[in-house]
Amino acid sequence: MVLEGWQTRWADEEEDRGRFTYNIFPEVKTTRCIVDRYVTQAMTNHGLCPYYLKRFNLRDCNCRCGEDTEDGIHHYIFWCPLVQHLRKLNRPGMDVAQAVSHPKRVQEIRSALSFVYTNQSDIFEDNT
Ligand SMILES: [Zn+2]
Repeated sequence: MVLEGWQTRWADEEEDRGRFTYNIFPEVKTTRCIVDRYVTQAMTNHGLCPYYLKRFNLRDCNCRCGEDTEDGIHHYIFWCPLVQHLRKLNRPGMDVAQAVSHPKRVQEIRSALSFVYTNQSDIFEDNT
């Protein structure tokens, strides 16, 4: 069956790709559909952040706050002091699955990631 094959491939620990998302959604489902681009970024860690820019050799930079060398999408959703003013509900220690299952938390994710996008020249600092 196609779904079983998909599940087997998805759970294959030898496969590097998709491990970040696998840890959030270990079970494959055909009913799951994420359409919000900021929620998609939160779920996949693929979006505008130093982690992604470095991983794909687009830009060698870090977050100006200097608090985290990974600087992934979650840095902005849960941690970064530069977007602290946009967060009330999403806090360090929460997981993404919790955050994206609550409409007000999703709104905070949108606000934080949209702010990062708009202010990237002030937030990202090139490593020289
Ligand atoms: Zn930061």
